[in-house]
Amino acid sequence: MSQQGDNSSKSTNKWRDKYLDLIERHELLEKSSKSSHDQMRRALVMVSLLADGQAENIDAPLSKLRESIKPQNDNKGLEGILQTLQIEVNRFEQQWKIKADLLLDDIQKAAKNLLLLPCDIQQKKQIAKVQKQTKEALKNWTGHAKQLQSWAQIISSLPINDILETSAAKKDLAEGADAEKSGGFFSRLFQRDESVPAAKALASQVDDHSQDIDAEPSPPQPGYNHIEQEISAMLSNLLQQLVIPERFRQRLEALKKKLTDKLNWYELVPLLEQVANLIIDALGDGQEEFEQFLQGLDQRLETIQQLVNDASQGQLDRGKARDAFESVLEDEVDEVRSIINSKTDLGELGHSISQHLGLIMSAMQEYRLEENSRETVLTKQLADMQHKLNEMEKLAEVAQHAIEEQRKKAMHDALTGLPNREAYQQRLEQEVNRQQRYGNKLSLMVCDIDLFKRINDNYGHLAGDKVLKIIAKSLQVNLRDSDFIARFGGEEFVALMPETSREEAKIVAEKLRKKIENSPFNFKKERVQITISFGISEFTEGDSANDVFERADKALYKAKENGRNQVLIG
Ligand code: GH3
Ligand code: MG
Ligand code: MG
Repeated sequence: MSQQGDNSSKSTNKWRDKYLDLIERHELLEKSSKSSHDQMRRALVMVSLLADGQAENIDAPLSKLRESIKPQNDNKGLEGILQTLQIEVNRFEQQWKIKADLLLDDIQKAAKNLLLLPCDIQQKKQIAKVQKQTKEALKNWTGHAKQLQSWAQIISSLPINDILETSAAKKDLAEGADAEKSGGFFSRLFQRDESVPAAKALASQVDDHSQDIDAEPSPPQPGYNHIEQEISAMLSNLLQQLVIPERFRQRLEALKKKLTDKLNWYELVPLLEQVANLIIDALGDGQEEFEQFLQGLDQRLETIQQLVNDASQGQLDRGKARDAFESVLEDEVDEVRSIINSKTDLGELGHSISQHLGLIMSAMQEYRLEENSRETVLTKQLADMQHKLNEMEKLAEVAQHAIEEQRKKAMHDALTGLPNREAYQQRLEQEVNRQQRYGNKLSLMVCDIDLFKRINDNYGHLAGDKVLKIIAKSLQVNLRDSDFIARFGGEEFVALMPETSREEAKIVAEKLRKKIENSPFNFKKERVQITISFGISEFTEGDSANDVFERADKALYKAKENGRNQVLIG
């Protein structure tokens, strides 16, 4: 096989290797993208589990979400599920606000009634103070618990027991229906304005036992059952809105039972305190943060989903995907950790979050390990590629050099080394453009060796070749650097002489002619004189290159006709 054949097969092999490398790299990237996708899917499942159990309406779409992102389901229906989730989270918030408003209404009315009790100035101040805080406090769960506790304290500090005892005694004394009608203290305390003028009713009740309260006739009073219903409805409502961890479930059930059983007046205040304590235990300060966490969950889910999509489409830069993945996971971990740190008695919730936290951490470690090994592979690939690139650069340099050589050869005459006719055409174009743009002088000179055929005939072609070389060299070295001479064909040459008028060109040509005329050519020890004829013309306005060449060529023809070895201007 030839040297050229060897080179071409080597080059083919190199390109084939490069192609195979690219395929291999592509496969690795595809694998890494799939792995990222899986990690993010797992993270999404874990995060969604954190929100589980907060509201029934939210649980269902969360469960569907987990189902949809299972690999075999390929995110089917995901967009719809996310929309439902968004709606349910909004609804959860709205319902929560409505319930809080109702509660606020009830508490405000109860507070108004409390103020009518025979309490001292300190107690009244306390009632007014807690009443003032109610609206703000009901904005979050911690506030709910604190409110309940504050009211329980106020109620327990009021002289209710005295009132109740007297009321109960009166009830015992009174006969059947009358006693039922008069109702109890809490009945009037929690009555709504529209049903009974509670303040007046209470004043009337208390009037029998205290000189400080205005006396007015007693209106018909709701029965004891009514009070019981009102209080248990209100407390049940409150308990219903709570997310109670499993370990408090028994306490909750016991309280609910007490609320639905017949209420004993004397147990009411302790019962209220127990409810308040349960709420405080169950919620603690961390609950508020957890609510915020829940509210922001759908946004986070969306962010994660976006990442999953981007990664699966392979459109996200790998480094960026990794950073975003880690930052999302770290955010989740911080969030969960802050909930755990701020609340040690969240019980089941805390335990569950701890588990998820562990899972998230191990997922992240796994991801990092894989990422490191991917990086090692990529670094090696990069080094290999760099090496190949260097080799290719070297090859490119060689090729560039070869092309340069080729180009040079293509533009030069092999025998004389002078620029050839092709090169002359290119240079002619440049010089004509310049001459036309700036109006500079430009002359053209054609010359032809006289009776050259005789040289060949008499001394052979090789001798003729030598003569051609010598004359070409002589013409070239005796022209200025700014002049351009080419072998036009056979024993004919053409020169472009910028910044040169025809007269100046003639002077130069004469010099060349004399030089060649006086050159000593010896053939077979016989001195032979060689001469050369010239035709010259100058570019003038409106001339095309052909016009000028034709004039010079005619002048040359004339010089031949006139006896050769002379210079004529055309
Ligand atoms: P004239 O003075 O009228 O130009 O006469 P001439 O003999 O020079 O002209 P002619 O056109 O009759 O002959 C030119 C000869 O130049 C013919 C050809 O063999 C010779 N010739 C052309 N190219 C080469 C070449 O590369 N090498 C050699 N040795 N001879 C060449
Ligand atoms: Mg000739
Ligand atoms: Mg000729």
